[in-house]
Amino acid sequence: MSASGQGAAHQMSHTLPNLPYPFDALEPYIDAKTMEIHHDKHHGAYVTNLNKALESHPDLQRLTVEELLAQINKVPENIRTAVRNNGGGHMNHTLFWKIMKKGGGGEPAGDLADAIKGAFGTFADFKTKFSQAATTRFGSGWAWLLFRDGKLVIESTANQDNPIMDGGKAFFGLDVWEHAYYLKYQNRRPEYIEAWWNTVNWSQVAEHYAAARK
Ligand code: MN
Repeated sequence: MSASGQGAAHQMSHTLPNLPYPFDALEPYIDAKTMEIHHDKHHGAYVTNLNKALESHPDLQRLTVEELLAQINKVPENIRTAVRNNGGGHMNHTLFWKIMKKGGGGEPAGDLADAIKGAFGTFADFKTKFSQAATTRFGSGWAWLLFRDGKLVIESTANQDNPIMDGGKAFFGLDVWEHAYYLKYQNRRPEYIEAWWNTVNWSQVAEHYAAARK
């Protein structure tokens, strides 16, 4: 069973996807210990708790996490907050691991590069604006690059919310929960954000962009 299987009809439970690289692959920007705890413990707990919330609702077990979150207001009230937080955590982290790699960084190319320039000016302008959204998100949350009403925009969300919960299609995101950086950067979130750009897997982001654009 895939973690976020595309329309899987008989999905029984959500599963923790493997990290697509070793824990130390993103050193020195993100340390191995942080990656291990973040993936195994934090993401692992979101998956466990999502499955637990769905135990009493077999009808909802057949839905992908994307389907659940896109209609979060239809999820029964007694499990809605659990699905929102843990389903969001599962979806957000599944994307996050994929858009990083060893030897990442640089700039996007092709259609994605053009779209970013069209929407935000230069790539440097985009980077500044995205970093600002990530820096100024108060407390725990995420910064996103997404399609909303057919337009490329930058937003941020609180907690484990995902733009899909109100009609956005995010294909690039940055985790600014303290658990993502505290071991190495403590309270220096801007330093973590600056370092994180060196991990971005732009060719993977370009694939997500092409899929989200449809
Ligand atoms: Mn996280």
